[in-house]
Amino acid sequence: MDGSDQGRPPPEPESRSYPIYRPPGLWFDDGNHVIQAENYQFRIHRGILSARSPVLRRVFSEPVPEGAQNIEGCPVTHLQDHGKDLMHLLMSIYDPAFFEPPPKDVPVGVVLSVARLSFKYEVQHLHRRSILHIERNYPIDMDTCMSHWRTTEGQSWFCCFETLLNIIVTATYINASWVLPAAYYYCSSAVPSHTLRDTSLWNNSQRAIVLRNILAGKINLEIMDVAYENLIGTSPCSGCIQREKCALATLAAVRRFWSSITQREPAGTKMHTLTYWWDRKLLKKRHCKELCDPCSSACMSAYESARGDYWDKIPSAFNLPSWKELKSLRETNFSE
Ligand SMILES: [Zn+2]
Repeated sequence: MDGSDQGRPPPEPESRSYPIYRPPGLWFDDGNHVIQAENYQFRIHRGILSARSPVLRRVFSEPVPEGAQNIEGCPVTHLQDHGKDLMHLLMSIYDPAFFEPPPKDVPVGVVLSVARLSFKYEVQHLHRRSILHIERNYPIDMDTCMSHWRTTEGQSWFCCFETLLNIIVTATYINASWVLPAAYYYCSSAVPSHTLRDTSLWNNSQRAIVLRNILAGKINLEIMDVAYENLIGTSPCSGCIQREKCALATLAAVRRFWSSITQREPAGTKMHTLTYWWDRKLLKKRHCKELCDPCSSACMSAYESARGDYWDKIPSAFNLPSWKELKSLRETNFSE
């Protein structure tokens, strides 16, 4: 197994028991080379792939042994990849419309395939494009992140634990670690504890590391959730001009918060404090209008400080470098 298969079963050995599959659009009559991965075969152009991938260029330049297999007169190269991943990579190379950059929506499975293999085979433009797709869904900025999640709830990037795990192991493999805090954070609130502890999932070392990080992070965030349970500060403030009304309004807001995070979520999951409170516009509209001006100002000031603190602490909750280091890594590896 090479690194591109982290967290997943290795490719199936090529077997006569499975019929050969030649995906439409990737068997060219004038192709001069056949690539096989699992039971997928592709008749492609050595020159085109060599121009896109220095790794494949080296593979193709290796001398062909005497009596080596050939199909329809083309030499055959066997690659240790998942056939579907390779199909997605080749489709992306041959058909620009197959894998367009954001804001075009591309299925998460295609993005992860291309992310893994464009990294492995050093196809730079596709590597970059795949990261743009991943970080669009797991952004580095809190407001971008939370507002995106609100509009995409239930979409394939977020609804299946297997997919969430694959996103994390793929982002780790391709060194796009700046997307990991958001991906881990999302997992820690969306996946029930009993699912994370399911021993059948801990079946290889890469998955075990990710699952351990999610579980540890979930516990760290639950501690933070208590410390930051009230991101809106305390009212009345020292300059309050309607003490009883402001105190009652704040008490009611905190009660709504508790009721929301304890009643709406499926068993074993709990919305993190930050997810509940992140929307400052809503806070101003719903809560601050019930406070006097001094309390409203004090509330927003406490809120800005606390939400920033919370977001800053998310990477360390999952044993990741700080946002500053992750942003610097992005700048180095992925500057415009
Ligand atoms: Zn007040």
